[in-house]
Parts: sequence; structure tokens; C-alpha cells
Amino acid sequence: MNFDLSPAAADLRDRAERFFASRILPRHPEWRAWMHAHDAGDPPFLAELKAQAQAEGLWNLALPRLAADEPGTRCTNLEFAGVAEILGRLPWASEVFNCHAPDVPNMEILQAHATPDQKRRWLRPLLNGETHSAFAMTEPDVASSDASNIATSITRDGDHYVINGRKWFASSGSRPDCSFLLLVGVTNPDAARTRRHSVVIVPTNTPGITHLRDLPTFGHLDRVSPHPEFLFENVRIPVANLLGAEGAGFAIGQGRLGPARIHHCMRAIGACEVLVALMLQRVGRRQSFGKTLSEYSNIQEWIALSRLELETSRLMVQKAAWALDRYGNKGARKEISLIKIGVARAYSYIADRAVQIFGAAGATDDTPAAAAYTGSRLLRIYDGPDEVHHRTIFRFEAEDAAQANRDLSAYLRQ
Ligand SMILES: Cc1cc2nc3c(=O)[nH]c(=O)nc-3n(C[C@H](O)[C@H](O)[C@H](O)COP(=O)(O)OP(=O)(O)OC[C@H]3O[C@@H](n4cnc5c(N)ncnc54)[C@H](O)[C@@H]3O)c2cc1C
Repeated sequence: MNFDLSPAAADLRDRAERFFASRILPRHPEWRAWMHAHDAGDPPFLAELKAQAQAEGLWNLALPRLAADEPGTRCTNLEFAGVAEILGRLPWASEVFNCHAPDVPNMEILQAHATPDQKRRWLRPLLNGETHSAFAMTEPDVASSDASNIATSITRDGDHYVINGRKWFASSGSRPDCSFLLLVGVTNPDAARTRRHSVVIVPTNTPGITHLRDLPTFGHLDRVSPHPEFLFENVRIPVANLLGAEGAGFAIGQGRLGPARIHHCMRAIGACEVLVALMLQRVGRRQSFGKTLSEYSNIQEWIALSRLELETSRLMVQKAAWALDRYGNKGARKEISLIKIGVARAYSYIADRAVQIFGAAGATDDTPAAAAYTGSRLLRIYDGPDEVHHRTIFRFEAEDAAQANRDLSAYLRQ
């Protein structure tokens, strides 16, 4: 394993750092003020920053399969890790470089499965940062961590498919500038459980789609990437909107998750670095019972443990990125499951300490601690809850042990 960056990739990361420090971070107060004052839409300066980033080649860095005629700079997962970490320091920074969820994993599956016509119509505007998309798989009425349960029906009727069902948590689907959903539903109900589903492209303005509500999480509406609930009643789309083959939906959905999961973990590391820096600043300044907080041994332990967890997380993410580059989605499944659990835990522990260290302020939105506290909790559920990843890891462990078939009898008293 070698996690060294090439000179070109190191230069890209340094340019991303400078762009973040000089042009994104200084706009954060303006971004917060704008978000407080508006219910929907983006602050006007976002488009200006996106244009600057694109002009400087800091664009579409999260797409290892970026084609020569597609806009942006192609990076491997390992090369992107350092940039994603920088962007993860603020909730809106990834979008400036067009490296945000859920558009990136959606672009990846369009790159892999769309026809040339579909690419022109749906992928190109995403690559240009002109529109947004959502992935509509999860349903309120079935246990969606087992994707083979998805029940929304997609029935062929002449040159059209007709969609009926209910979806929720199709993140970003209710953004005013979201133009289409990649929807997972059942086209082949009599096939094997993992061959029943297909992915179709559904323009958000198609008649029959009702936006029921945006779901608050822990009492808050996410303004960057809202979580809508949609009802689909006899929604008709042309058969040309089928992505890949009929019955391939389960496999396409699974393939999407490798990159989606690793990017969330990369960004979480950046968010944790901010928390550690803020905790250190706070404990060095605040006095309690005649001492500076940093003099208390529990505080020192919290900072040390945070660094330990952060360093472990970063190394595991780098290894997973390296494995993803080298062996692909399937080959890196165990590493991806390990980081999905491990980074979410580290993020939760660090956020919890940050809330405590900031006291009452930690529970408000005056610091990033409260958003990190709830965001890290959500990371343990989306893109597969912890328990599903435990199961994956156990399976790999058991398979490896069976293959190794070691004689362990000498370790045991006979
Ligand atoms: C912030 C956020 C964003 C999201 N974004 C999207 C999105 O863009 N698109 C989308 O389609 N979905 C999205 N989701 C939905 C998310 O992917 C699902 O919530 C997740 O897959 C779990 O499905 P479920 O909610 O139906 O829980 P269920 O499947 O009902 O599972 C509930 C619980 O049961 C337990 N459990 C499940 N399986 C096992 C098992 N094998 N072993 C032991 N215990 C188990 C776990 O504790 C699990 O948390 C998002 C969710 C959140 C919170």
C-alpha cells in the first residue's frame, strides 16, 4: 500500500486548500445569514464560486471515471480523499467543486449505465453543475436496508412505464433546481428477489408526483439537501428512461453505494478536524473553578482520544480509497463497511465531546457541534445501517477463515 500523492495530485489538494481558505470560508457567515432568511434556493454567490472553481479545474474531482470530453479534473479515490476532507469542513463547500452528494453517486451510475442519449440529456447538466438529482429508493412501508424489499411498482404500458408507490428520504429531491429522480422499483415481480428491480429516470415535473412534505431530522429541516416524501400515482415515463437493463436495479443500487459511502466518510473527517480545532481553542481560553479547562485531565483525554479516533479513521479511509481504486466496488466491500461503521462512530464520539465542551452553546447552532452531533447519528443509518455492515464484515471474516483453514488446535488446551 502506498498513500503518497503524485506531485499533480498534491498540487490539486493545495489549490483546493487555498480556494477553501480564501474564497469559501470567508463567505460562511453570509451563507448562514442567507439560509436563515430564505426557505429555499441557494445564496446568489454560490454560482459565482462554482464558476471560479470550474475555471480553475477544481471541478468534478470525485469521479474517477471522468471521460476526456467531460468537464473537470479526473482524480482517483485516493487523490480525492484529501480534497473531500477540506470540503467536509463546511456543509455547503462540496457543491462549489461539484463534488456533493447525492449528485456524485448519481453521476457515477449514469456514467456506467446510461445510453449516449441519456448521458446527453441527464448526465451532462449534472457534470456542468446546472441542475440537481436525487436517488429515490427508500420507502416508509418496507425495511429498506434490505433493498430487495422495495415495493414501488413500475409497470410497462406500451411505450411507457407507469409508476405507483411512495418514497421518502429521496435527499435533494425537493430542491427547486432538482430536475430528475433515479427511482428504484419493481418491474419483474416474478423474478428472483435481486432481479426484480429496475432504475428509471423520472423528471420531477412529471404529472402524478405529489411532494407530501420535507422530513425534519431531529427536529430540523435540512436546507442543503432536504429529505422529501413523495407519492407516485400513475406516473408515466417513456420506456427510454430505463437505466441499464430491466431487472438490474438491485445491482445498480449496490454499485452506487461504494463511492457514496466513502465520500461521506472523507467529508466527516474534515468536519471532525474543525471540531477538534474548536475544542482546543475553547478549552485553552475558558476558566472554571480557578483553572483553564485544558488543565483538567478529562479534557486532555478527550482531545487525545479525538486525535486517536481521527487518525485511525483517516488511515482506514485512505486504505479503503486505495482498495476501491485497485479492486473496484466489489473488491473493496469489506473496507467500505469497516469505514462506514468506524468513521460514523469516531464522528459521533468527537461531536459528543464537542457539545459537552461548548456547554449550552454546544446545543445551539452558534457552533458546528450540534449539527455534527445529529449528522453523525444519521450517518449510522443512511447508506446502510451499522447492523447491515456488521453482517457484511462478519461474512468476509468467516469466508476468509474458512479459506485459510488454519489448524488452531495448538492454541487450545487439549
Ligand atoms: C439523512 C438521511 C438521508 C438519506 N438519503 C437517502 C437517499 O438519498 N435516498 C434513499 O433512497 N434513501 C435515503 N435515506 C434512507 C436510508 O438509506 C434508509 O433509512 C436506510 O437504508 C435504512 O432503511 P430503513 O429506514 O427502512 O430502516 P429499516 O430497514 O427498517 O431498518 C431499521 C433498523 O433495523 C435494524 N436492522 C436492519 N437490518 C438489519 C440486519 N440485517 N441485522 C440487524 N439489524 C438490522 C437496524 O438497526 C436498522 O437501523 C436517507 C436516510 C437518512 C436518515
